[in-house]
Amino acid sequence: MKAELISAGTELLLGEIVDTNAVYLSQQLAQIGVDVYYRHTVGDNLRRLVEVLRLAFDRADVVIITGGLGPTQDDITRQAIAEAAGRSLVRSPQAVDKLREFFARRGRVPTENNLCQAEAPEGAVLLDNLCGTAPGIRLEHEGTVTFALPGPPTELQPMFTTEVMPYLLEMTERRGERLYTRTLLLADIGESNTAEILSDLIADQTDPTIALYASPAQVRVRLATKDADEQAAADRLAAAEAPIRELLGEHVFGVDDDTMESVIGRLLRETRATLALAESCTGGLVASRITDVPGSSDYFLGGVVAYSNDLKQTILGVASEILSTHGAVSSQCAEAMAQGARAAFGADFAVATTGIAGPAGGTEQKPVGLVYVAVADERGVHVEEHSWPGTREQFKRRVSQMALNTLRKRILQTI
Ligand code: ATP
Ligand code: MG
Repeated sequence: MKAELISAGTELLLGEIVDTNAVYLSQQLAQIGVDVYYRHTVGDNLRRLVEVLRLAFDRADVVIITGGLGPTQDDITRQAIAEAAGRSLVRSPQAVDKLREFFARRGRVPTENNLCQAEAPEGAVLLDNLCGTAPGIRLEHEGTVTFALPGPPTELQPMFTTEVMPYLLEMTERRGERLYTRTLLLADIGESNTAEILSDLIADQTDPTIALYASPAQVRVRLATKDADEQAAADRLAAAEAPIRELLGEHVFGVDDDTMESVIGRLLRETRATLALAESCTGGLVASRITDVPGSSDYFLGGVVAYSNDLKQTILGVASEILSTHGAVSSQCAEAMAQGARAAFGADFAVATTGIAGPAGGTEQKPVGLVYVAVADERGVHVEEHSWPGTREQFKRRVSQMALNTLRKRILQTI
């Protein structure tokens, strides 16, 4: 199913506002497998809008136009659709009543301009606007369905969810084109390595399609297939998932809406184990992420942000010889911090982070980005060393991900 998006508004062309509606709509349509072939931005000009609408009517199954539904002179989307479809504008008595009610609730009376918002091309359906005055429009014209939605995102998004999405889902289902996806979430591997490992599968892909997406500290592999039958789609996705899992092994930490912290929560709950933290360079980010998960009090005891050497000694019991001989950013210190936290807080697992976030503080032996993560459990301590130059924010995010992933792998070994 082919879609075309039109953003109407001169302020978009002038760069005064950013076209977030197009981004939102593209993302929503991608999720249900509707292919967006073109995106247009057009000023508040009737002739040019009509031109673009006619083009879209000719080649798209779905057209979504946003903006220009308001009551002012430059709001011309209604006229443009009517003209492009060769239909007259008619005023809906029900919509007029709704507008009058909307104004009456605010102690006001609608002007003639306001009442124009109750107009739509002949044969169109008006879509309720629960968050504003301008109703949306749905028009079926020569095999193309056109939706006109209000420009303000606070009005557009609820209208899209309640009026457009269900309609499109039904269309895709009718055509046997409903999209089903399965996303594998990866840790401790970059996009290019993933692409290389999966290169044969990616080269041979037909159905399901395989796509890689990289975001900070995480790569996602998304499998997608279209089918009228949910079970058939699920079977196809599962068949494609198996060899990918085989190739990527323990890099796959979760699927779909999982997060690293929710996966850890599940593992800790399953194994009835508890967790404590001793964070230096992550400044509490690991704790923050762990506690983003509802119910984390079941397994998370707490932790410290031990930033100074003093606190590392007094709270975590790191020996002063370790600090004077190896420094705070060392595998020895990470190890002692994790063991100290495990003992002090009485947890089954304790995770420690210590590193040089930068931009200052690096040396030749210990450059900015150097980090140690330690996980202590009843078997002892496991330490990992990495080097990740970048901004402080990227560094903290990556280290927190690595710390959690190291913990995940340690827990898995106990199962
Ligand atoms: P109104 O009834 O408020 O006039 P409208 O449907 O006529 O709504 P516009 O007049 O085109 O829409 O835009 C109104 C406001 O909506 C803009 O000032 C802007 O804040 C927001 N807006 C419009 N189009 C977009 C867009 N493509 N992306 C993000 N915001 C938008
Ligand atoms: Mg307007």
